[in-house]
Amino acid sequence: MTDEHTEDPLLVQLTEWRRRYAQLIQSAPEPYVEVDRNGNVAEWNPRAESVFGWNRQEVLGRHFMEFVSPASLGRSTFEQPHLDDRDPTTSAILGGDHPRFQLLHRSGGTVEVEGLSFVTGTGAGLRTASFVRPMADPAEAAVAHAELQDTLTGLPNRSLFGYQLAHALSRVGSVPGSIAVVLLDLDRFKAINNTLGHAAGDELLLAIAQRLEASSGNAEVIARFGGDEFLALFRSEVGDAHADASEFIERVRASLAQSFDVSGTEVFVDVSFGIALNTFGVDDPNSLLANAEAAMYQAKYWGGSSVETFGESMRLEVFDRMSTEHSLHRALERSELMLHYQPVVDVNSVRVVGVEALIRWQHPEQGLLAPCRFIPVAEESGLIIPIGAWVLEEACHQLSDWRDRSTGESRASSMEVNLSARQIDDPHIVDTVEAILARTGLPAEHLTLEITESALMKDAASALRVLKTLKELGVLLAIDDFGTGYSSLSYLQRFPLDILKVDRSFVEQLGVSVESEEIVSAVIRLAHALGLEVVAEGVETAEQLAALQSFDCDLAQGYLFSRPLPATEISASLGLALSA
Ligand code: C2E
Ligand code: CA
Ligand code: CA
Repeated sequence: MTDEHTEDPLLVQLTEWRRRYAQLIQSAPEPYVEVDRNGNVAEWNPRAESVFGWNRQEVLGRHFMEFVSPASLGRSTFEQPHLDDRDPTTSAILGGDHPRFQLLHRSGGTVEVEGLSFVTGTGAGLRTASFVRPMADPAEAAVAHAELQDTLTGLPNRSLFGYQLAHALSRVGSVPGSIAVVLLDLDRFKAINNTLGHAAGDELLLAIAQRLEASSGNAEVIARFGGDEFLALFRSEVGDAHADASEFIERVRASLAQSFDVSGTEVFVDVSFGIALNTFGVDDPNSLLANAEAAMYQAKYWGGSSVETFGESMRLEVFDRMSTEHSLHRALERSELMLHYQPVVDVNSVRVVGVEALIRWQHPEQGLLAPCRFIPVAEESGLIIPIGAWVLEEACHQLSDWRDRSTGESRASSMEVNLSARQIDDPHIVDTVEAILARTGLPAEHLTLEITESALMKDAASALRVLKTLKELGVLLAIDDFGTGYSSLSYLQRFPLDILKVDRSFVEQLGVSVESEEIVSAVIRLAHALGLEVVAEGVETAEQLAALQSFDCDLAQGYLFSRPLPATEISASLGLALSA
């Protein structure tokens, strides 16, 4: 039974002792800091506030090492930790016998101090209590060691910012969005500097720095990055640093909406903001700074005076990919994929000798999509395997059908189908092709498989193996987009190829660049020497066709003859004499 009157005298004494101790620390003439066993600041007295510039509320809960100058860390006089379960770095700094080190002043300067530490409390309440006495007059010391401070504005400079950012990152662990870096860049500062002079420019920067500090809110650091760029750092244990950064930006914008008086001239400034957040994989100071810078440039690109968060658009891109992948799954089931066919013509007779199958996606919301919109996603997700098999089957079936219905003379004799690198890697590719030929009844020699030069070169050894087995089926093989990779023709000799397709980028230069003409004619001659047939891609003009004829090119494809068209249209417009 205890009440106020029968309280344990020991407890009363303890409470009284605590009160006095707290009072003593409050009024101590020396800066006093208490650090818990994790190295976080647990007490910071008024004298420490005035000597180091940091308010108690700013430092409580932050790691003590954030306030130790990086220069001190390299010193050898620090002791090794003497209490195993305490934060080793903090112990190393504070645990020594009157260790000397430098604490960071809030302004970016450093203050040389001597520590006097003792351990208080037990168990979870174990703390290192220290008096950290400045070696010189604190005001002088802070100014004297200004290497971490920007001289014009008195703000921390970029190296101090980087240091504190590194610390903040190490503290939040892997919680994404727990750190936000804001980079501010004045719009048109050069113009202000040039018209009003550099002294006026400096005056303006100083005034801006003051407004930033006044708007800082819960920013951990406001720093000058250099030139007309400033930085702010936000930390949120729960991953909400972006919200703090956004509120800061709103305050800054409101504050900068008021004009500045620069040597009697009224000046308005606009600022572009770039925000970078830590995410999985982006958790080092340099990447964050680079991302903030990239975002800021993006904001400038929008016309300045705007805010851009790095990763926002990237995230949208990822989201876009994911939704593309999701709907691509259903596209197969719902028969939204279709093939268009582009004729391949004989260069001399300009008669159609075959067609190339080119995939299209009739997207329910976005309309007809070209392959560049979804093939990369299909390749990345592996969906290219079932999609590629569908293309092969549909194309072979189509040609088989055309052949059945056409008269002997004008029989379209070849179907060209594109294979992606991923399909070449598929261990079942040969079986798939074989089964499709069997099912559709198309003789193998009427199918040409196209592989891009870059897909061939990716893993030349295994590509060679696969091509050899495909070749044994009796199909023809073509190297696509030739000239865009770095293979040499003599190297290609090892592959069992039948056709070489000269990339459109060379064809479009015919008649424009003499050099390209020489390349194309040389490629054609060498290809012929290697026994390859040559197809020129992307022929759009009669001049290009004439040049190709003079170079003895075999076949051509391009808008000059026909765009890729649906099966029904191509049969009519190209006069594939169909019996049906
Ligand atoms: P590719 O195999 O080089 O196909 C030629 C591309 O050039 C086609 O674009 C075609 O429409 C276009 N083209 C043809 N003639 C001309 C011309 O005179 N001028 C211009 N400017 N362009 C011309 P498309 O259909 O957008 O296909 C792009 C690429 O997508 C193809 O390049 C191919 O690499 C890939 N692709 C298409 N279908 C498939 C497929 O079923 N499977 C795989 N893996 N890739 C495919
Ligand atoms: Ca092709
Ligand atoms: Ca091509």
